[in-house]
Amino acid sequence: MDILQSILVVAVIFVPLELLLPQRPAQRIFRRHWFNDLIYLFGNGFVVRIGVLLAFAFPLGDVETAMPGSARGFVQSQPIWLQVVAALMVAEIGFYAAHRLFHAVPYLWRFHAIHHSIEDLDWLAAHRVHPIDQVFSSLATVVPLLVVGFSPEAMAIYGLLYLLQSHLVHANVRLDFGPLRWVFASPRFHHWHHANQPEAHGHNFSAQLVFMDQIFGTLRIPDAMPDRYGTDEAIPQVYPLQLAWPFLRQQPAPFLRQQPARPPQPLTGSTPS
Ligand SMILES: [Zn+2]
Ligand SMILES: [Zn+2]
Repeated sequence: MDILQSILVVAVIFVPLELLLPQRPAQRIFRRHWFNDLIYLFGNGFVVRIGVLLAFAFPLGDVETAMPGSARGFVQSQPIWLQVVAALMVAEIGFYAAHRLFHAVPYLWRFHAIHHSIEDLDWLAAHRVHPIDQVFSSLATVVPLLVVGFSPEAMAIYGLLYLLQSHLVHANVRLDFGPLRWVFASPRFHHWHHANQPEAHGHNFSAQLVFMDQIFGTLRIPDAMPDRYGTDEAIPQVYPLQLAWPFLRQQPAPFLRQQPARPPQPLTGSTPS
């Protein structure tokens, strides 16, 4: 499946879901900065693929031979479902570590802040990620999987689950998974990671399974939904400036900066569009 087909499949799933079960009914499908995030959707894949290829061409070229063949054979002889569960856990460790680093190190935060600049969460918002953030997060996730050496089938299922869940957790949908929210990352879980409220900071770093947040005490899933999303950083809302922003010492001109955060939107209200 090429990138355009993947996008169509994802849009066909998530646009109706957001219309059927909106968390914020007043938020429109074509919300603010929708087109900007569409550029990420088409532009980032190419940039990130080049970055990952370069990383594998030089320092990571032999990563797949890091494990002895016998160990890889043992892994690949396991049932597919077990390999997929193990792959989810191995990938989560790498992602959680990278994600916490992007929040903890001020220079790295400048790249990750682009993802947190979204004020209207929806499925498309999943794509607003700076390429540097995307390349390093992808490597932190995929390299451990390659080292362990899961079978191609298990990797394909893992990739499909990641694709669906990464869109779902950003989607404007009213889902919290019930008791399973303490196992799987849900929209409510990740929406709280994006909340621009002091009590939300430093929580919910996981991507798919929340066990790393459980272990390190960073899990927080209140019953209520956040009042607002975004960051206080003055981030421009134009794609090329967002790519340049982490490297800029000077702030962009005021008219290019993010608009001030809006007051909280009602959770019920007008018909979605
Ligand atoms: Zn984050
Ligand atoms: Zn996110």
